[in-house]
This record gives sequence, structure tokens and C-alpha cells, in this order.
Amino acid sequence: MADDIIPTGLTEAEVRAARTLHGWNELPTVKQTGPFRVLLRQFSSFLVLILIVAAAVALALGERVDALTIGLVVVLNAGLGFVQEWKAETALNTLRDMLSPQAIVLRDGREQVLPAKDIVPGDILILTSGTKIAADAQLLRAAAFSVDESVLTGESIPVAKGDADESNAVFAGTSVTAGRAEAQVTATGATTEFGKIAHLTSSVGSKTTNLQIKLGHLARQLGIAALLVAAWVSGLGIWLGRDLTEMVMTGLSLSVAMVPEGLPAVVTITLALGATAMVRHNALARRLQAVETLGAASVICTDKTGTLTENKMTATQIWTPDRSYLVTGTGYDPAGHIEWNGARIRASDDPVLGALLKTGLYCSHAHLTREGDVWHMVGAPTEGALITLGYKGWCELPEERNLLAELPFSSARKRMSVLFQSGATAEVLTKGAPERVLEICSNVMTRSGARPLTEEDRAGIEHAYTHLAESGLRVMGFARRNAPDHQIVEESMTFLGLVGLIDPPREEVRGAIAMAKSAGIRIVMITGDSPITANAIAGQLSLRITQHLTGDALDELDDSQLGDVLRGDVLFARTKPEQKLRIVSALQAQGQIVAMTGDGVNDAPALKQADIGVSMGIRGTDVARDASDLVLLDDNFATIVRAIGEGRRQFANVQKFVRYLLSSNAGEVIALVINIAIGGPLVFLATQILWMNLVTDGVTAVALGLEKSEPDQMQQSPRQKDAPILGARGIATIVLLGTYTGLSSLWIFFHLMDLGVDLARTTAFTAMVVFEKVSVFAFRSLSLTTSRIGWFSNPFLLAALTITLGAQVLAVYWSPLQVLLHTVKIGVDEWLLIGAFALPIIVVPEVLKAIRPSVSPDKVVSREAA
Ligand code: ATP
Repeated sequence: MADDIIPTGLTEAEVRAARTLHGWNELPTVKQTGPFRVLLRQFSSFLVLILIVAAAVALALGERVDALTIGLVVVLNAGLGFVQEWKAETALNTLRDMLSPQAIVLRDGREQVLPAKDIVPGDILILTSGTKIAADAQLLRAAAFSVDESVLTGESIPVAKGDADESNAVFAGTSVTAGRAEAQVTATGATTEFGKIAHLTSSVGSKTTNLQIKLGHLARQLGIAALLVAAWVSGLGIWLGRDLTEMVMTGLSLSVAMVPEGLPAVVTITLALGATAMVRHNALARRLQAVETLGAASVICTDKTGTLTENKMTATQIWTPDRSYLVTGTGYDPAGHIEWNGARIRASDDPVLGALLKTGLYCSHAHLTREGDVWHMVGAPTEGALITLGYKGWCELPEERNLLAELPFSSARKRMSVLFQSGATAEVLTKGAPERVLEICSNVMTRSGARPLTEEDRAGIEHAYTHLAESGLRVMGFARRNAPDHQIVEESMTFLGLVGLIDPPREEVRGAIAMAKSAGIRIVMITGDSPITANAIAGQLSLRITQHLTGDALDELDDSQLGDVLRGDVLFARTKPEQKLRIVSALQAQGQIVAMTGDGVNDAPALKQADIGVSMGIRGTDVARDASDLVLLDDNFATIVRAIGEGRRQFANVQKFVRYLLSSNAGEVIALVINIAIGGPLVFLATQILWMNLVTDGVTAVALGLEKSEPDQMQQSPRQKDAPILGARGIATIVLLGTYTGLSSLWIFFHLMDLGVDLARTTAFTAMVVFEKVSVFAFRSLSLTTSRIGWFSNPFLLAALTITLGAQVLAVYWSPLQVLLHTVKIGVDEWLLIGAFALPIIVVPEVLKAIRPSVSPDKVVSREAA
């Protein structure tokens, strides 16, 4: 369906006019959670309900000051919660905005990558495999083009488009499954078919993560336990003849002390802020779950081109059956030349070279453009490098109107052919993986003309191919044939030669591979490139490979054989994207947590199956991106390793503040329960308990969630996916520390009782606050001493400690707070007593950590053994 008129697209002025008429290509956005709703949410929890009941009870019993205090605590707590949640909400919105789609549009005769929102009716879209179509459009030209329209029709089988007898319309929201086309936009935004039916789904899934579910569960269990304990304690108190009001209030405060209501919310905040931190490292989490799962990743399956390498290709060598050429220059700047025996050679000097360069130029969709002295390339880097090579060889540029047909490139076919009109006749030009080109050739071109391909020729070509690939070059083969009948067929072709393209490994990847190794994470390279090239690149990156397997060899293996292979240091080359799914599943069957990269439309099933599907922000397709959990904004392997580090940090921090919060609560509960049992006067008053839990602990816990990663974080093996947040050691720490702080404050209380109950209670209350604050150092690292991670390395924590301890000083000495919290001034002796009891809380965990071999409690030594 080639058109004689070659479209050049709209001009800037036409775009402006169309925009005024039709507006932006956007659907009305989903209502985002506004600040008011976030604020309201703060008052809708079980915790607030308990507090409101407590305030009402206090009021009913005539305790106006207590009711006021509880009211203030509710407001303060809501304020803190609001600030944190709003921050998380805006962080997620920013991430959503970053995921907005782009489109390739032809304007002013130039292909440009633009935000999909800029598209106007009349624009010409370039649609390639994996693209999500951004507007309704009419096909102008198409090659082997098919579309998945399931979002509109529910039918998942791809529909062929563009042939004479088929529909020419494509629709917004559907995606290209194969081929390539140019299409003119007919409708945008809400007027598209999709716009008429769609309620825009936001892309950053706010689906609850495993951690949130687990913590919600924990919070519920503790909530029930709290209510039981509270009922028991107040019942016991009343039975023992204690004041009814006092006991009801104590019961209520005790339940507040024990219910870690805020936990799931703090986790969301931590993960959302973690996701923002990851964006700074170029990793965009599409689901919060990804941040969490990343920390447990044990295998990374990665492709090579663009992820391990720069994907900045330059042709450096040309091999033809008679001669080998060197090519100078770097990048897409055509300032360079082709050399043979020291002499500069042009296309016209050698017919074989000329035909080869022409094939590279014509069989392509890449374009070079120049801005000042800088050359830009639009298209696939492999093709861009061949266009640049054509320029360097002074080859004549193709006229697009002469392109008659195309058999597009796909990762499964690994070659591409075009049918071009050349004067009166037509010719088929093919480029691709050398073995895929050679298998359709029966002749070979030499300077003295074409002749049948002999076994010797084949051996010569294979030898040259191996030689180029061994130095890590990506090798492309070229072939041509005449097509007097104007049919595009890939058979009986004439082999022209090979081009070796250099694609240097990314500098930072070597370090990232070493880091992944020390972190117990395995790396499996799965590439469409040749095994020899892939091996050479692995060598350059110090990635240990003991075995390589091609896609064909992989097909021969049954599942158990594949399982065995996957236990070694294996590399998969010349694979088809479909095979990635099998590799992921086989690794998962071994209990591995797999991160898998992918960029093409056929990678989507593997990305979905993987525990963490990783797609590419630059070279990835929309379909792959939609199937993934994590988008690498720089396509870089090193980013995955950094993101895993960030995921580990997030999980460790959640563990830290959960343990911290629970140990604080345990201390209070132990003091209260023992005190009631032995019949002493109330050690903490209801309002004091609320103050400790809601005012001072929350701030400290959030600061603990911002703890930096520990120096040995990437020297530990990955945790198991379902590793407990508390674990046996966590529970032991909580109980031990809780017992110590509970008993200490109780001892202080009784010790000072002779000086008056108010002074004794104020001191015990202040002691508990101080204990809780200093105990935070024990939780900053679960295995390393604070001296090792640095006393001052978390400024947020130091600020939180200063603020909360300052607040406690006010609580003791500032009369309004004295009234609210029923406190009295305490003297130096009391402070010294508190200090004496607080010291061991810092010293003992430090000493224990220092003398224990530095093994993380939840370290999993061997996953295979698990
Ligand atoms: P990776 O899977 O690591 O990204 P890759 O880019 O080599 O590696 P594919 O894109 O599947 O993987 O390409 C497979 C092979 O197909 C390449 O090694 C190359 O020989 C050939 N090839 C790549 N691009 C083209 C193209 N535009 N036209 C023809 N052949 C191509």
C-alpha cells in the first residue's frame, strides 16, 4: 500500500491551529486524592476511634483536662500523619507523571519523539512493534503490520491491518504486535474510541504490597491482644478496688499503647519515599510492591545490548569475500572513512563494498540529522551505525518513494529485508544475524561478479564471523538479489559480506556485576546476539561464564536439564524472546526471586512472570513497560543493582522501625501490667501514654525509616521473600528491651515514691521517654554497632531525638504542658537516675553487636539449600 506522495507531516503552524481546535491528546484524568481526603483519612482509623471514645469517657467523668489533652493528641497525630501521607501521595503522583507515554511523530519532514499528549489530528505517527498507539489513526503505509485490540474488543488474537482487504483504522490504547506502519491521526483525546469508553487507569499501581498485608495482619493481631489485655487490666484494677475512672482511662490508654495502628501507613510512606529515592538512581517503580520485592531479588536475568553495553554502535570493520576494511571515526558523526591497505576507499571503488553499504543504508529506518556540528540519530542504534557507515563510504542515499515492500526485523527472525526499485528493475536487500542471512544465500558476490556459494566460501564466512565476534563486535551479515517480478522473497540471495560493530560495555557495569556477586545475586545474560560476541562482552565485564547455550540448544533441553544448567554460570545467546518465560519459570521453580529485563513486545509474558519485570525507559516499548514493575530510565544494568540495594535498605528500615515501635510499646505495657498486678498507684497516666506513643515515638520511627543503607548491606545474601519482619531475634530483642525499660521505670517510680507520687510518676514517665529515645540506637542497625555506621550519619534521627527530648523537657517544666500531662518539675538527681538507667540501653547492644560475628539474623546462606 505504498503511496506515491511521501508525507512530511504537519508544520508547526498547522499543529498550533489543530491544537486550538481539538485541544491536547489527553483523557480526563482520574480524580487524584486531594489534600482534604488525605486529612479526613487521618480521622478514620480504629486508633482515632479509641481515642475519641477515651475523650468522651474522660469528658463524661468530668476530666476536662484529660479530654482536652486527648483531643490535642488526636489533632497532633492527624497533623503528623497528614504531612507524611501527603508527602507519599505527591511522591506517587510525580512517579505517575513520569510514566506518561511518548510517540514518534513525523512533523516538518522530521521524525520526532514527542509526548503523546502533543499529538493533534492530522499528525503522522510512526508505529513499530510494541508501540501503544496514542490516537485513533488511518494507516498510510504498513509492512506485516498487526495490532492487539483486546483493550477495545476483548479479543486477544492480533488483528492484521493495512492489507487491501483489511481495515485501515487503528485505535488509541491498542498496541502494535508486529511490523511497522505510518498512520495519520483522525481523532485524539476523549473523541477516540478508547476515550469514549475508558476510565483512565493510573499507572503506578497502589495495590497493597505483601509487607503492608503482613503488617496489617500483625497490627490486627496486636489490636485484639491489646483489647484483651486492656480489658483484663482494667477489670483486675476495678476488682482490686481501684478508682473506676482511672481504670477505664488506663484500659483505653493501654490499648492505644499496644495497637500499632500506624504501621501499615508508615510502611506505605517508607516505600513511597523509597520509590522517590530510587528515581534519583534512575529506577522508576511502577508498583510499590517492586520496591519491596527488589530487596529479595536473588537472580537478575539481563539482556546485553543497551543494558550491559552502551548501545552506541559504531561500525569498525568490514569483511567481504575479497577484502577486509577498517573504518575510522566514532559515534554517528560521519566524519570518518573506510580504509583498505592504508588507502581511503569509497563505495564506487569496489562493487561488493558498494552493494554492502547500499544494503545497510536502504534496509533501515534510522535517520541522521545534523544540528550545528552535532549529529543526531533517530532509530535503532544498529541501523544508525550502518547509515553512518554508508555516509563514510560516500554511498548514494535512498529515495523513500522507491521502497516498495518490507519484511520487518523481529527478534525471532533476526533479519530484515526491503524491496527497492532501482531504475527499471527492483532488488531485495537483506541484513541481519550472519547465520540467518547466510541460510537464505546460494551465491556470493566477489569483485569479479557473483558466483555459487561453495562449502569453502561458507567456512570462510563463518571463520571471519567468529574472528570479528571474538573481539566482542556485534556482527551483521548482508545479502541482495534482483527481483524482476517485484516480489519480496528471502531466498537464493547473494551474500555480500559482514560488518563488525563495536558496542562498548558500560563503564559502571563491571562494578555493578562485582557488587551483585558479593550480594549473593546471580546474573544470567540472555541475549539475541551471537554466543561468541556475548562471551567476549561477558569477559570484558568480568562476568564469569562456564557454559553458553543457544536458543536452539535450549529448546532441546527438558525442564530438569534446564534446571541443572541454571545452577551454573550460564549465558543464553541467539535466544527468542519467548524463551525468556521458560528461563524465568525454571529459576522460580528453584525458589529464586527473579528480576528479568525486557524491551520488546514478546518480552511481556516473561516480564509479567518474573518477580520483578524490568523494562527500559529509553529503548523499551510501551507494551514491555506496561508489563513491568520497574522501569530503568537509563536502560542501565548498574541501575538494577542500585535499585536492589535501595530495596534492601527499605526492607531493613521497615524491620528497624517495626521492632523499635513494638519494643517501646512493650516497655510501657510491661510496666503498667506489673504495676497493676502488684497494686501500686498508676505508673503512667492515660495522657502520658498517649504522649509517648503518638507524639514522641511516631516522629522517631519515621526518622528510623530514613536510615541510610548499612555498609555491609550488599555483602549479605538476599533475604527470602517471606522472611519475617520480626523473626525470633526481633521478638527476643523486643521482649528483653521492653522488660528492662518497663522494670527500670517501675523501679524508679517506687524508689521515688517517698518524695511524692507526682514527682515519682513524672520521673518514671520521663525515664520511659528517654529510654525509648536512646533505645533507637540499638535498632539503627540489626547487626552493626552504631560506631561502625556512625553516630551522626542519620541527621533526621538526630533532629527527631532533639525535638522529642526537647518536647519532654517542656512537658516537665512548661506549665501548660504540666497541666495537660499532670507532671511536676524534676531535679538533677532524678535526671541522673534516669541517665544511669539509660546508659546500659546504649552500651549493652553496642557491646553485644561488637562481640558477635557480624552475621545478619535473617541471612540466608544458600538459597539452593532452602
Ligand atoms: P539483546 O537481546 O541483548 O538486546 P540483541 O540486540 O542482539 O541483543 P535482538 O534485538 O533480538 O537482540 O537482535 C538479534 C540479532 O538480530 C542481532 O544480534 C543482530 O544480528 C540482528 N539484528 C538486530 N537488529 C537488526 C535490524 N534492525 N535488522 C536486521 N537484523 C538485526
